[in-house]
Amino acid sequence: MTINIITLGCSKNNVDSEALAARFAKMGHQVFFESDAPSDIVLVNTCCFIQDAKEESIEEILSRTERKKRGEVGQVFVVGCMVQRYKEELRSALPEVDGFYSFAELPDLLNTQSFDLLTEPRDLLSTPAHYAYLKVSEGCDRQCSFCAIPLIRGKQVSKRVEQIVFEAEQLARRGVKEIMLIAQDLTAYGTDIYHEKALKTLLSSLARVQGLQWIRLHYAYPNDFPFPILDVLQENKVFCRYIDMPLQHVSERILRDMRRPSSPGKLRALIEHIREKIPGIAIRTTLLTGFPGETLAEHEELKRFVQEIKFDRLGVFSYSREENTAAYAWKDNVSPREKRRRQKELMQIQEKISLTNNQLKIGQCLPVIIDRENEDFYEGRTEFDSPEVDNLVRIKKQTILNIGDIYPVRISKANAYDLYGTVEMERN
Ligand code: SF4
Repeated sequence: MTINIITLGCSKNNVDSEALAARFAKMGHQVFFESDAPSDIVLVNTCCFIQDAKEESIEEILSRTERKKRGEVGQVFVVGCMVQRYKEELRSALPEVDGFYSFAELPDLLNTQSFDLLTEPRDLLSTPAHYAYLKVSEGCDRQCSFCAIPLIRGKQVSKRVEQIVFEAEQLARRGVKEIMLIAQDLTAYGTDIYHEKALKTLLSSLARVQGLQWIRLHYAYPNDFPFPILDVLQENKVFCRYIDMPLQHVSERILRDMRRPSSPGKLRALIEHIREKIPGIAIRTTLLTGFPGETLAEHEELKRFVQEIKFDRLGVFSYSREENTAAYAWKDNVSPREKRRRQKELMQIQEKISLTNNQLKIGQCLPVIIDRENEDFYEGRTEFDSPEVDNLVRIKKQTILNIGDIYPVRISKANAYDLYGTVEMERN
């Protein structure tokens, strides 16, 4: 059969889709990703992180069931976080779907006895051949009051260091040059199986994997930051000078209510320390705006912090009230319109910061990995940019470049979210 897998949500879902794809392929099916071509089966891997994500998942399911009605698709199956959380509601609301499978029910979908999303080998990548996501743990032991992820994904389960290194070696052998380490909470990696933080050990082991050129880190929790990892990042060129560390907010009151106790002073000191240890590091963060009770003064405090710290990369989400989280009990008293206004204000500040930062890069020669080509340009990224979420470097097509290779690129022009440049000499 032909199976088309559609993935919504975060990169962790991409990894899950790849694990499912590998198993389907082993069963003799022909699997592809994100296609509009006719297929026997469409499998939609959903997200329900916030309201917008739920709506996007529902729209995707409906567009696929429409195609089923037109005869372009045989059956539609739905898996992922949304099924884990709302299976019964979905089943009654969407009878045209042929099956909903929670995580525990995936073996039924695959007609097998056992299937472990976290450790299943991945022989098919949904990403371009030169980069891949590598999930180091699943679930989360924290209890942030707004977050439904622990309810959906459960407590943290870490993979063993040897297994992650084995996967990284396999990926490198098949030509992957860049891996993105992902976890709900990278900071706590290993605490469940080793009873101590093990991120430093993991990174030291990964630094020895032959063939990888870039490794980047996603989703470090700012409290209890594992400072010894900074030495490993600094000593090994394979690690991108990049860290994704969602702060969510900086107001002491809001952080306390979010159950992420900290303060602007502590967060400032943490960022300064990271920047001191690894000069030039790009710090990416995400913020949540419109949390219950967020006053204008608290929003202003957040704006001032963003202005002062000048994050290199920033994403801003509007608070979404999620059932069974602690914050669900509190009044969602910032209107949707006001949440959007605050979100926009923060992004406008960031746009100016990003423009200034990018303009400072004009004249510099930076290693750039080539992701794709279109009619006029090659598009790539620096070590300071993760795929899909960060800046692009556009290189005018003059010579032929190999997708997935890293070239020195002299930056000649910049706007807020893109750099432009030309390849300077032989590739690295
Ligand atoms: S650390 Fe992240 S995943 Fe874990 S509960 Fe908090 S926000 Fe959710």
